[in-house]
Amino acid sequence: MPSDCLFCRIVAGELQSSQVYSDSSVVAIRDIAPQAPTHVLLLARKHITSVRELSGADLSIVGAIVSAAAEIAKREGIAEAGYRLVVNVGRNGGQTVDHLHVHLLGGRAMTWPPG
Ligand code: 5GP
Ligand code: ZN
Repeated sequence: MPSDCLFCRIVAGELQSSQVYSDSSVVAIRDIAPQAPTHVLLLARKHITSVRELSGADLSIVGAIVSAAAEIAKREGIAEAGYRLVVNVGRNGGQTVDHLHVHLLGGRAMTWPPG
């Protein structure tokens, strides 16, 4: 694990976070700067820099993250109204932490197109 990676340190429990879900491949935490009433980050336990660096062998991790997001949305009571899953990739995508993660946003109506 890269010792300078923020999300690796959160996954390892070295840094404090508000954890809402955990399984063998995913850790989900509340975003420190929420952009919606529900804003959960689903982190891959494994350090993968971004979707750009995703290998075929790691596709099951993406499946686990999306499945966990659907489960968390149910628990948060936002599943029926709907929600948004976001993956920022690289500079133009707005990615600020280089460790694979998916945003789960809900609790309000989202606008389109995104900013
Ligand atoms: P990105 O911009 O890379 O897609 O998303 C990174 C997200 O991580 C941002 O929404 C930001 O608010 C969140 N974040 C940054 N540092 C921390 C932290 O220390 N703890 C938590 N819970 N979220 C963080
Ligand atoms: Zn990492």
